[in-house]
Amino acid sequence: MHTHERFSDQVSRMFDKAGAMTSHPAGLLNQIKICNSMYRIEFPLERDNGEIEVIMAYRAEHSHHKLPTKGGIRYADNVTEDEVIALASLMTYKCAIVDVPFGGAKGGIRINRNDYSRHELERITRRYTYELTRKNFIGPGIDVPAPDYGTGPHEMALILDTYSSISPDHLNALACVTGKPIGQGGVRGRKEATGRGVFFGIQQACQFADDMQKLGLTPGLEGKTVIVQGLGNVGYHAAKFIQEGGGVLVGLSEMEGGIYNPDGLDVEAVMQHRRETGSILDFPGAQNLATSAATLEMPCDILIPAALEGVITDENAPRIQAKIIGEAANGPVTAAANDLLLQKGVLLIPDVYINAGGVTVSYFEWLRNLSHVRHGRLSRRFEQRSAEQILKAVEGMTGQAFAPNIYAEMAFGAGEVELVNSGLEETMSSAYVEIRDQSKRHQTDLRTGAFISAIDKIAASYLEMGIFP
Ligand code: NAD
Repeated sequence: MHTHERFSDQVSRMFDKAGAMTSHPAGLLNQIKICNSMYRIEFPLERDNGEIEVIMAYRAEHSHHKLPTKGGIRYADNVTEDEVIALASLMTYKCAIVDVPFGGAKGGIRINRNDYSRHELERITRRYTYELTRKNFIGPGIDVPAPDYGTGPHEMALILDTYSSISPDHLNALACVTGKPIGQGGVRGRKEATGRGVFFGIQQACQFADDMQKLGLTPGLEGKTVIVQGLGNVGYHAAKFIQEGGGVLVGLSEMEGGIYNPDGLDVEAVMQHRRETGSILDFPGAQNLATSAATLEMPCDILIPAALEGVITDENAPRIQAKIIGEAANGPVTAAANDLLLQKGVLLIPDVYINAGGVTVSYFEWLRNLSHVRHGRLSRRFEQRSAEQILKAVEGMTGQAFAPNIYAEMAFGAGEVELVNSGLEETMSSAYVEIRDQSKRHQTDLRTGAFISAIDKIAASYLEMGIFP
């Protein structure tokens, strides 16, 4: 029925459900929901063989209630204007939920990156950046892109280089994009941030004994069986941290199909196998599954779709066996499937919360670029010496020496990666408590709780502006 509903209409439906539970006036809710600006670009690319091809690209800035706006750039051959608007709106709500002071945005270029050479991809990325700059759709205080599906640190470095070369003498040019390589102003921990955030979110959700009891599960991540779809930046890192945290990866899938082993799969070994053979299939000891979709339906406690939207629909939702779904991708569960899964009693941890680790650490990167100093540079040695002095004073009072490992663990000044990871953990943990509280207060699901939390915060900033009496 709703399977072919537009992505943006599905997000609107989720928004409206939450909006109806608030007391904000309809006009204000509508202002929060609509997309503020959309830039559609078509530009020519000269292919390596001399042919000219027209490239279609977009950038949507969903909400200007806070500036800059923020959101990734996606390279995929099915990118549409509607998808970019929907993803930009999710960014607005996501930033509000984790208290990152940005409006939401998203960019997309309609290409399959595997069809283009390295030089062609560079020309596409630079031309796109040039077009954004020309129309004021990029800048440290305007709109700050980041990686998304099909893009990574390399594309971010090209965006920075292009932006800086046409905006000379811009002191804060480094902050025009995040997810950059470390040597180009990136922050340690950004690449793995979304996956690490997914892990923190799952870990936090599993801590609540009453919620776990309703699902027939014991508290804690330890020993829970997990399936991850998509082993890109988000999926690979989520799988890695979940495995390190005690979860058992029983199923993994990529474009070519899936593998399943109830005794557990080692994600590093699977990645190595894929590098060597070009596929995750035929991994020793595992059962092959013909499609990625079939993997979603295998037995597990926790399912993590981390590829693209719309993979769990009202058609396959009844066959999903997972008790917990962590939406690492944006929009993996359609609105119709969402209702069916909730009826089944599945704990759905929504995208607008659980994949917010990327934008959270992007915020830390942007702050670092604006402050022009690495996090921890000023304080690390000072903290280390203070801790050493305290340990020595305790030794002096007790007459007993601490073991060397205690010194190593406690007399330790936090560097950038420790600060970034602790900031991320704190953000993900406290945001979960907040959306859970909202959902309990309104006797609704976590996604609606998360949307209510976002709507209240965005409404407050409009009301503070005095635009809506
Ligand atoms: P990516 O390009 O690094 O990885 C995506 C992976 O999914 C690729 O390896 C691809 O081969 C695989 N894939 C594609 N179709 C598949 C299918 N049907 N079954 C199994 N695997 C499939 O992209 P990413 O950055 O990891 O993004 C993945 C999702 O996470 C997207 O929805 C994106 O919007 C979302 N997200 C990303 C970030 C980020 O920081 N990169 C932040 C928040 C949300």
